[in-house]
Amino acid sequence: MRYNCYHKHTHYSNIITPDSIVKPIDYAKRAIELGHTSLCTTEHGYAGNIFEYYDIAKEYNLKFVFGIEYYYVNDRFEKDKSNSHLMILAKNKNGMKQMLKIMSEANKTGFYYKPRIDKQLLFSLDPRDVVVTSTCVISYINKHDDYEENFVKPIVDYFGGNFYLEIHDNTHPMQVEYNKKILELHKKYHIPFIHATDSHYIYPEQDKDRTEFLNGKNIYYPEEEGFILDYPDSDAIFERYEKQGVFTKEQVKSALKNTWIIDDFEDIHMDKEVKMPSIYSSLSIEEKHKKLRNILNEQWKKEREEVPKKLHKKYIDETKFELDIIEKTSEVSTVDYFLLNYEIIKRGKEKGGILTRTGRGSAPSFYINKLLGFTEIDRIGSPIPLYPTRFMSVSRILESRSLPDIDFNTADPAPFIEASKEILGEDNVYYMTAFGTMQASEAFRNYCRAINLKMDEYNEIGKNLDYYKNDSKWGSIIKESEKFIGVIDSVSPHPCAFLLLDKPISEEVGVIRVGNDKNVTYCAVIDSGTSDKWKFLKNDLLTVTVWDIIDKTFKLIGKPIPNIRQLDKLLDEKVWKLYEDGITATLNQVGQEATSNMVTKYKPQSVSELSAFVAAIRPGFASMLQTFLNRESFSYGIPEFDELLKSSDNFCLYQENAMATLIYAGFPEDETYDILKQIAKKKGDMQKIKDRFITGFVAKTGSEKNAYKVYQILEDSVRYSFNSSHSLSVAYDSLYGAFLKANYPLEYFTTVLNIYEGNTDMTAKIHHELPYFGIKILPIKFRMSQAHYTPDKQSNSIYKGLASIKYLNVQVAEELYTLKDNPYIDFVEVMVDIEHNTSCNARQMEILIKLNFFEEFGKNRTLHLIYEKFKERYKKTHKEKTRLERIAEIREFVSSLSDESLPPQDQVFFEKDVLGYVESKYPMLDDAYALILDIDKKYTPKLTVYKFKDGTEKVFKISKKEFIKDGEEQLIIGDVIKVLKTDMKPRKKLVDGKWIDLEETEEWLAGVSVVKRKNNI
Ligand SMILES: [Zn+2]
Ligand SMILES: [Zn+2]
Repeated sequence: MRYNCYHKHTHYSNIITPDSIVKPIDYAKRAIELGHTSLCTTEHGYAGNIFEYYDIAKEYNLKFVFGIEYYYVNDRFEKDKSNSHLMILAKNKNGMKQMLKIMSEANKTGFYYKPRIDKQLLFSLDPRDVVVTSTCVISYINKHDDYEENFVKPIVDYFGGNFYLEIHDNTHPMQVEYNKKILELHKKYHIPFIHATDSHYIYPEQDKDRTEFLNGKNIYYPEEEGFILDYPDSDAIFERYEKQGVFTKEQVKSALKNTWIIDDFEDIHMDKEVKMPSIYSSLSIEEKHKKLRNILNEQWKKEREEVPKKLHKKYIDETKFELDIIEKTSEVSTVDYFLLNYEIIKRGKEKGGILTRTGRGSAPSFYINKLLGFTEIDRIGSPIPLYPTRFMSVSRILESRSLPDIDFNTADPAPFIEASKEILGEDNVYYMTAFGTMQASEAFRNYCRAINLKMDEYNEIGKNLDYYKNDSKWGSIIKESEKFIGVIDSVSPHPCAFLLLDKPISEEVGVIRVGNDKNVTYCAVIDSGTSDKWKFLKNDLLTVTVWDIIDKTFKLIGKPIPNIRQLDKLLDEKVWKLYEDGITATLNQVGQEATSNMVTKYKPQSVSELSAFVAAIRPGFASMLQTFLNRESFSYGIPEFDELLKSSDNFCLYQENAMATLIYAGFPEDETYDILKQIAKKKGDMQKIKDRFITGFVAKTGSEKNAYKVYQILEDSVRYSFNSSHSLSVAYDSLYGAFLKANYPLEYFTTVLNIYEGNTDMTAKIHHELPYFGIKILPIKFRMSQAHYTPDKQSNSIYKGLASIKYLNVQVAEELYTLKDNPYIDFVEVMVDIEHNTSCNARQMEILIKLNFFEEFGKNRTLHLIYEKFKERYKKTHKEKTRLERIAEIREFVSSLSDESLPPQDQVFFEKDVLGYVESKYPMLDDAYALILDIDKKYTPKLTVYKFKDGTEKVFKISKKEFIKDGEEQLIIGDVIKVLKTDMKPRKKLVDGKWIDLEETEEWLAGVSVVKRKNNI
């Protein structure tokens, strides 16, 4: 007997509560196997990816049914943890919208551990548009005593015939008891039954997989033991009900038959048409085009000031050419894209938003994007050829019905997000959702945990699964673990993609709450790939640190960020010298050691050279990279071709080089990018393209041999060639930074030190470059240091910021800085002032004292003793007379002290703790003395030590035999040691269960003595 399986769960439920490893498609396949006719979206608390469900349903010719197993409480504004489950199905599209709306509301206003709907939301649904069922054993009926008065009766009254009592065939005693209760209700209220499977997997044997998935995550549901959660045929269902012995066969039959109500649901239709939001929906398409033309005219009036007069006509013609593309693609409303983003970007900038002057991808190759303020790159005046059709062409937009796509790179996306919401509406802009899936390594680890393997056993294996695939022990475990690969097990907001829609997203797509209490983001339940497929408008707002650096450095200098034309004129010898000398930390594209080494070899001298460099260092170009970096002369020996490749040192480096060659051979510009893609994918009539090229090229040059040769080069180069507007953009990003570093190093380094405050690796790299500019970092000092790193022009140095120190903060730093001009006769006066006029507490005072912040008043050990005394004797609540007496007493104490520093051991240990690194050095001490900062005892003991003499940190290994003697560890963190002897030994690695020697070596401690044990300071 056929039935509809409407109550089920897939891995989409896992983002609410880990529950299942099967996927929507598994249900579709099973439905076909059983001759069933529908696929329903039900998940816990939401409906999963409804677009994926819809596509699968169409593919398998099943009816798409929209349902959600909600969490339900009486009042969603109460902190009520006792939520129960409640199943609702949409009978039509209207019902689906209402259901999405209350689901979104449950996430926005009803969230308490779970997204919860309540009475108010439930009874806001139109009773004609939905079907409600009582759901599983976690129903309100099974959880609350007032279920008749407060749940069943009101629902029957309101939803009438659209309410069903859901029964399950599980033979678990809990289910059997519950079914008896349901039977009573059925008799009393004549509410019809409906059968549900509550499937969490397809076949009974998959119960094991699900349990292992959960156990691997350390989750156990003991109360579920004995529940079968499969998707069975009806024979099995009848059998199980018989075992339960609660319902008659007739009752079971009617319960199954009642699932046929789904057959009468409306066939919900969802379309894949372009969903371009419009902010001018009342205007006709012609009026919108006119509006855009007016904006472009206004912008051109400003732009032309910077363009030589004789070129004006060219700029106007090129703009018209692009505008023509927009007008010819009015079918997909491209004009709305530009009008909308023009307003968003303008408003975002007004709100203080910083957008890159460059861009990403092909966007800068469209001049209209410059006029509208999306980029500063002028493709018409660019040193390397850029083609507008690379960004957008009529045929591409109309054939693929794709939307234009610009990545907006920002220093901080917040102002642009706000602007988008202001312009389109609060409910019309949301972050997209990113579902996290288990990768091979995590799948393996999860399985190992599930079968109770120990972490040290499988840890090394997990790092190199490919290697162990055929291993006799691990091979089968790896194979078994693959069932978890691709299973969704987390969710996060997409890092940069936003959904924009001119209809309420909470009803059209649904909104879920993602993150934890401290960091909540409301996301549209759609991922970026699905959005592309279904043609929703997606805006990418990326955060780009280089632009944060550029913005903040210019602010520090007190100058506006120059536009690209202005920057071109500012690029002097000093700038290019930085690349040559490898002073490239924090510069875009060349900040890593490997790329820095390459750029010192190549020594770019112009924007186009740096842009070519960016394209050349991509992996695809590897075979020719050395020739390029060494600037060995290179030519294909075909003069016409060399001319076309002039902008990239005769290499066919950019896609635009190939496009130019096709244009040269007679192809219209707007076809060239698509032809390149065809050549790359070897799709379409390749022979026809080739013939057309050969004919065209021969017509221009007369040489058939060269024509074939060039075509071959094009074919080869499509594999690696790079988009030149992207290379040019990131080259300029790099140059903005290099210009600042070369000309305003003090301000530049101050900015990057602040931006990378917590990043010790980056801070170390930055420190290495400071001597190049003769800049020093000064330790924190009273009267000088502020909250953040601050430049001191006179001494060409940078004061460390107080806020970067553990336990200190911006407020205290600023308060202390206000005392900088006060004359103090002694430290006692300073302490009194700080006590009365700042929020600096005892712990913060002690840190500052020990870090020699108050050096002008004495050495730190002595100042610390004075402060101890002060804390004990002086209170600001004392009467004035007492205070004066106590001050005198403290001064008396001070006069008894001699001026002393903390011992090196204590000082070093303390600095490591609060600064993250050690500042002090002791050049007069012997090189063998060191302090143990850390001991890693996981494998062979590994010591991190600090060497007093030169202030460097070092790592030593030590044999277990040497480390533990007579059952006692010989060294502890904080010990001052003398290194007596070290050995160099090869590093080892676990391969195939055996330790093998590597070529690299590491230093081992062979002889060591403890000079001083750590005492508490
Ligand atoms: Zn349930
Ligand atoms: Zn369920």
